[in-house]
Amino acid sequence: MQAVVLHQFGNASQLRLQSVADPRPGPGELLLRVRACGVCYHDVINRRGSLPRTNVPAILGHEVAGEVVEVGPGVRGWAVGDRAATLQRMSCGACPACESGRTSLCKRDNRFFGEELPGGYAGLMVAPVGGVGRVPDGMPWAVAATVCCTAGTAVHVIRTRGRVQPGETVVVTGASGGVGLQTVQLARLDGARVIAVTSNLGKVNALYNAGAHEVVVSPTLEFAASVRRATDGEGADVAVEIVGSKTFGQTLKAMAPGGRIVVVGNLESGTIDLNPGLVIVKELEILGAYATTQGELETALSLTHAGRLSPYVTEVLPLSDAAKAHARLENRAVAGRLVLSPDAL
Ligand SMILES: [Zn+2]
Ligand SMILES: [Zn+2]
Repeated sequence: MQAVVLHQFGNASQLRLQSVADPRPGPGELLLRVRACGVCYHDVINRRGSLPRTNVPAILGHEVAGEVVEVGPGVRGWAVGDRAATLQRMSCGACPACESGRTSLCKRDNRFFGEELPGGYAGLMVAPVGGVGRVPDGMPWAVAATVCCTAGTAVHVIRTRGRVQPGETVVVTGASGGVGLQTVQLARLDGARVIAVTSNLGKVNALYNAGAHEVVVSPTLEFAASVRRATDGEGADVAVEIVGSKTFGQTLKAMAPGGRIVVVGNLESGTIDLNPGLVIVKELEILGAYATTQGELETALSLTHAGRLSPYVTEVLPLSDAAKAHARLENRAVAGRLVLSPDAL
């Protein structure tokens, strides 16, 4: 098969299309013919060498949709020709964390596609059945590939972790990326008042179209005062922190008493200064959000299929353009998601 292989950690030029041996499914696994694979900022971070569980050479990509072309021994419920999309990571399904529904916390099987498991920048990919969901008939492959990590993440962030209630104010940083646009949409759908923060004036319209009530454009990322003004001085009830360390200080200042900060993205690794006093007197909750459960993926696929969440696939590129896709993502030149297609070599 053809695959984009990361030879060494570094810049995008380390991603190169080449011929590699076809993978074969083992017990409990499916072989997928990859029809689309989203390019996520996580892949950029992985490519740079910031994720400790990836060894090079590696095939990146965890946002995969494709059809089953071979079923491994012992697999029930899946057949050749079925349409599947991957979760970001595996879980064992049997430990206390999994049994409580928090599969993102499973330690027995925490393999991540594109890290320990070869990913979807390839013509074929092996996926354990615990790491996939069913793609509805008629859903375009490029959309199906990106639903988990964008809309699925939004479901995890807004509903599961953020517990957003109708009438609450939700501020979203890094709002114009794939996760951000879905988060804005879902928060609006769930009845929240949504304030989107972006550093880029060119992305304002996309944010209003996604359902933002207000858009704060802040190239310097000094947005706390604007959020406070937009909430009559109250601050936001919930913040969805997609940028991470660069915006966290402002997010803290933008919160209402009792506010919940859901941290789901961290574009630049780094540490933050945190004033514990602010957390104490406002009784703030700082909540991590990681990956998506099979149930959240199903919810996201059905909300998308029903047209209640609009997907943001910006462009489908041939697999050979993986390096270009990474460069565009790093230059913040993308609103929504880029998707690679092995069908368009
Ligand atoms: Zn992703
Ligand atoms: Zn488990």
